[in-house]
Amino acid sequence: MKYLVGYLLFVLITLNSFNAKGQTHLSGQVAINLNTGLIACDFKLINLPNVENYKVLLNKGFNIKHFKNEDNTTLHYNGYYAPFVQGEALGYHFSDSKRNKIDLPRAFEVSYVGAFPKYENEYNVFDFKGLIAINNQTLRATEQTKWYPVIYDVDADKLFNSYTYDIEVSIIGTTNTDSTSIFINGSAPKKETKSRFVSKKQVPLFLFAGNYSFIDNNGDYILNADVTSQNAELIFNNIEIIKASLSEKLKQKFTDNIYLLNHKAVNKRRAGSSWGFNVYPSFAFTGLNFNTLVKENKRFDDNNIRYFAHEFAHNYFSTNVNSGKLKWFWLESFPEYLSFSVASDLCDKEYLPKVLLFKTKRLSDKNFKPLTEIVDKDEIDDLYRYSLGPLILQCFQDTFSKEKTNKIMVSLLKKANRKSLTLKDFKEAAIESGIKKSDFESFNEKYISSKNFKSNVIDFITKKYSP
Ligand SMILES: [Zn+2]
Repeated sequence: MKYLVGYLLFVLITLNSFNAKGQTHLSGQVAINLNTGLIACDFKLINLPNVENYKVLLNKGFNIKHFKNEDNTTLHYNGYYAPFVQGEALGYHFSDSKRNKIDLPRAFEVSYVGAFPKYENEYNVFDFKGLIAINNQTLRATEQTKWYPVIYDVDADKLFNSYTYDIEVSIIGTTNTDSTSIFINGSAPKKETKSRFVSKKQVPLFLFAGNYSFIDNNGDYILNADVTSQNAELIFNNIEIIKASLSEKLKQKFTDNIYLLNHKAVNKRRAGSSWGFNVYPSFAFTGLNFNTLVKENKRFDDNNIRYFAHEFAHNYFSTNVNSGKLKWFWLESFPEYLSFSVASDLCDKEYLPKVLLFKTKRLSDKNFKPLTEIVDKDEIDDLYRYSLGPLILQCFQDTFSKEKTNKIMVSLLKKANRKSLTLKDFKEAAIESGIKKSDFESFNEKYISSKNFKSNVIDFITKKYSP
């Protein structure tokens, strides 16, 4: 109990400090008719980011009633004619009465409606995370659909879609109001047809509503999965082991609650195939039998241990490290490296070497710039962030020890509270961890800044992990 009180206090303090920073906040109402597919939203956004060349993105299926400012004055805007298109969305910008573009205000209100097709016993030829998908049971709308206003920085090609929120959602048109549930990412699901959801932590808003039930396990949930309570317990036991491994390494409690959910795709899928996506801290799957996620030995298989370890590592390396030229290195390479570290603790001992060697093979045909020469964040592409970056960290661990690497991550996370991380922070943290400056520098020369760094990393991993 003492632990629980202390923990709650810690959460409250954390939440308050988050709130004090003036993060972008979304409030208002959403009304959803699951029979007609009609969605009506009245939203207010405050503390908007300072973006010079901006667009306000909304899913192309929505029609805007009006934008207003905080004094309830209707605002001029452009984008309703010959629209700017970005992915799933149309882009709008505010203007003066002569149609000249004006700056993004600090806050605005917007009302809009749109209707989306309902798939009962029919199918589309495709489904993807950016589709607002309604079937005879549920509605699924991720942050990628832009069902709520998303701010787009055109010059930096960057989306601002993680907000704190205070939203009321109401659902009509379900056949069984007793089992109507509503979920917004970052808040516990509720068995209601109308309910208010509040998050003081910034999250991408993933909405999932309709006829389904859910299981609660101390604030972690499985939604719409038809899982037996015995299996739910086994799933959460596995999750606890992975979370504990991460908290032990990073010397910090795992604070985010996790939501696993099952949804039905609106396209016909090959029997036995599974499709998953992640809107952290939610994990959505279609075609995955939650009752077989846990194997006979009561464990997830090695791939799922590593998959969940990567995703759960975003409890630590998340929006706090999402800036600077090397943002993809901090944001994705560290969770991927942590997934190796968890796998070496929890998986079959032959598993990790196979993964590491497989990753080196994927790198062989491509050239990469050393981290010290990166000028634009997107130079760190998928292969770099999920393979090369984590392999550099694995070399680092194998050169200096897991313990020191863990220590470095702890101090990097502290530094990230105040600023965008840089390689200088990495070096400082390494020296603080007890690594000699000259040893760090020779590592840096060979595996980080050298023009041959990629082949040096590949050689190191191949030598150490080949059977
Ligand atoms: Zn990730």
